[in-house]
Amino acid sequence: MNAFVAMSENPRIQQIIEKYKPIWALNHAFALLGWDLETYMPTGASEPRGFAQAQLTMLKQERVIALSGLISEAQKDTNLSENDKGVLRIVGREVDYYTKVPSTLIEQLQRTATEANVVWREARRKSEFSKFQPYLEKLVELKRLETEKLGYHGHPYNALLDKFEEGLTVDDVDAIFSRLVPRLKQILTKVTAEKRYPAHHPLESQKYEEAAMKKVNMDLLTLLGMPKENFRLDISTHPFTSSMAVNDVRITTRYEGVDFKEAISHVIHESGHAIYELQIDPTLEYTPLVNAPSLGLHESQSRFWENFVGRSKEFTKLIHPILRKNLPFVSGYEDDEIYRYFNMIRPSLIRVEADEITYNFHIVLRYELEKRLIAGDVSASEIPAVWSNMMEEYVGIKPGTDAEGSLQDIHWSSGDFGYFPTYSLGNVIAGMIFNRIRKDMNLEENIKNGRLIEIRKWLREHIHGWGGIYSPKELQQRIFGEVYNPDRLIAYLESKFLT
Ligand code: MG
Repeated sequence: MNAFVAMSENPRIQQIIEKYKPIWALNHAFALLGWDLETYMPTGASEPRGFAQAQLTMLKQERVIALSGLISEAQKDTNLSENDKGVLRIVGREVDYYTKVPSTLIEQLQRTATEANVVWREARRKSEFSKFQPYLEKLVELKRLETEKLGYHGHPYNALLDKFEEGLTVDDVDAIFSRLVPRLKQILTKVTAEKRYPAHHPLESQKYEEAAMKKVNMDLLTLLGMPKENFRLDISTHPFTSSMAVNDVRITTRYEGVDFKEAISHVIHESGHAIYELQIDPTLEYTPLVNAPSLGLHESQSRFWENFVGRSKEFTKLIHPILRKNLPFVSGYEDDEIYRYFNMIRPSLIRVEADEITYNFHIVLRYELEKRLIAGDVSASEIPAVWSNMMEEYVGIKPGTDAEGSLQDIHWSSGDFGYFPTYSLGNVIAGMIFNRIRKDMNLEENIKNGRLIEIRKWLREHIHGWGGIYSPKELQQRIFGEVYNPDRLIAYLESKFLT
């Protein structure tokens, strides 16, 4: 991988890269402001933070639009390198977005989302959908307006999907779910009948000390190879990863004081995101290429580490000494029991608590609902009822309250329609990685011996290092020779849970 030695030899591309530096700096500031908002910002400071973010967004919009002339000029060049094409693709998409969507709409969306977010928290706490409903209506209306401004082929939802996952369409997602859902239902039925994987485990209700859990996390981060001088671990309501730069990544987790596998899964998941950011080729820093190509690819990293590695027999055995050292109650359990605890299977109402098999049911439900909302086939007021019926159809249980139904996730209140499907893409791509990486190494052996560096190296060489040079579909084609193939995930789940 020496494609990065000279970022670009094309003078126009060099100019674009130069003029992109202040935009990189604004993105750096957005990341820091967003991280602070979720971790340390006093609750009363949300208004000035919202104001600052809106002002900076307008600055960014100006800077991006100012590049449109250079982009059109450079697009005429015939001898562009892969890097050059990547720069044009990424900046071209940004120019396109900010040119088509007027700043008044962007501002209105941001303001509505900020208000809706506060109302959603309250509505969720009281479990009253009706409080959130007018904001959901307004947000859907604004997002539909956004799709009109952006333009689309086929379904209007395509315009929203493309923002998070370049080139992804309703046809792609329909094809994935129509293959995935029936097979997952079959797997779930068999696993539930066989009872090899428990629906409940005594360790679920075992309380732990936060200080002890922090030690477990630090040991895990060392094991995963997270470089101490390049990351922080803090606490937030919803665990997340935020990258400020190639050598500055922040992850968060939360401590609920009970059911320690949750805290561990959060840390491994977020480390997966962090390792991606830390392994992007440093020569791409300060350029438009220093990002992952899509949310689906990013999520594939967190899911690969969390599930395919983190919930494997070898890994749960590998970390057993770390657990035993810090959590005295673990000593009463054999390796096999710890593995079973990490792999409980049961239909549940809450997405973030779902197991590897049922997780995608939660996503297909949200995807179907969003598609209908954006097409105008279902109204905001119908959501709780439709949600409930779809939960029964996919998962076999119905929520008793709005809080454990349509109010559980933050995404809609933030105006993030089109985001949810990328979670399932993450699972699908992680399945493709699992299939492909085992052709190059003995994955199980490497995990068993704690040689996780071999996995990190493979991921850097094949995925991370490239940053945003290739579109998500191009990158998959290059690595796997196929794109969003759900059969790899199905094969993995079948071999893990049914053999
Ligand atoms: Mg994630």
